[in-house]
Amino acid sequence: MSQLQPRSEKLIMQFRMQHNDGEVHAFHVETGKPILLFFAKGVISRLEGVLEAPPDGQWIAQGLFDLQVNGYGGIDFQKDDLDADSLLVATRALRKAGCTRFLIALITDDWKRMMNRLTHLRSLRQQSSELEQAIAGWHIEGPFLSEQPGFHGAHDPGYMVDPTREHIQQLRETTNEDPVLLTLAPERHGAISAIHSAAASGITISLGHTDASAEVLARACEAGARGFTHLGNGIPRLLDRHDNVLWRVLESRGLVTSLIPDRIHVSPSLFRIVHRLLGRDRIYYTTDAMSAAGAAPGRYTIGKLELDVGVDQIVRQPGKPLFAGSALRPIEGVLRAAEMLKCRWQDVWHGWSGSPAQLLGLRNELAVGQPATFCLLKQQNQSVEMRVCTNGRFSDEPS
Ligand SMILES: [Zn+2]
Repeated sequence: MSQLQPRSEKLIMQFRMQHNDGEVHAFHVETGKPILLFFAKGVISRLEGVLEAPPDGQWIAQGLFDLQVNGYGGIDFQKDDLDADSLLVATRALRKAGCTRFLIALITDDWKRMMNRLTHLRSLRQQSSELEQAIAGWHIEGPFLSEQPGFHGAHDPGYMVDPTREHIQQLRETTNEDPVLLTLAPERHGAISAIHSAAASGITISLGHTDASAEVLARACEAGARGFTHLGNGIPRLLDRHDNVLWRVLESRGLVTSLIPDRIHVSPSLFRIVHRLLGRDRIYYTTDAMSAAGAAPGRYTIGKLELDVGVDQIVRQPGKPLFAGSALRPIEGVLRAAEMLKCRWQDVWHGWSGSPAQLLGLRNELAVGQPATFCLLKQQNQSVEMRVCTNGRFSDEPS
């Protein structure tokens, strides 16, 4: 009997793993309370609050959702010859860092080329259910941005144009019904009417790389703009102390802003001030990661741009002071955000999971009927140990 028991348990385990069934006893990251979460065939089937604390002190959290990923794990999403295998490498590297869903970000280029790239990426995504689940949609950053020095950041002003209804229509047709986040500068000619068209066709508009006046920002909000992209970046290093786009956005109402919490793109002090002024409901986090994220220091690309990534993880165009994307791993960003705000990592998790999903009108939560995709985390002294489960299967399990 004593020999049979372990064997039958092993068989049950094997059966459950094959069917993506299981249960988890952990503290819920949103409530702080212990729960039992059951899943069957890769889907959450039951959630139960319990009194008993999990014996190993582990926490369960929905996967991180990053709305701006230009590349990851050595893979540059702007490459025209990208294949599905490379996309899988990046997707798995992101998952290892806690990010189970993301938007692929495409940066300013010739519009037609951007749309071809988008069509190509959509066809790659179709080749694998793993990619279909991880790549929630697209973040189109450009080419409708400010051409002004400092505001254009690493984007090439040579390809920038004014947005038209035709652009919006084409973007909608190319992406079908996929979630799309479009970052644009509202001061560009035709931008307000383009925002109207985009909002009407279900495209989420985020303002960014902009020096719009307070009046134009207000008109953009009225037209349907919802977000502001990487506040504190896409601006010159020196700003007028009396009137600049930072003050205008902080004073405006209604825009949900993204911040890159790597301590580099936004200083810890500004990071805290933005939180104090806007409150957590109007902030979400993103890596704005480029190919070097999750890879070793060295020289990488975003499209045609060559970039150097140092051991300090700062991404720079050689010889230029401006940052160009980040090399931040999502889980590392969670820890840095908490460190800057002097709070627990559990307190910032929603800002990188529920909040970004909400901006796009999507769900990303631990709920019955949702995929059994989540992170299990354990505090180990100063660091956090993490396992990621996708559709009821842990990444470290044999598939
Ligand atoms: Zn940007």
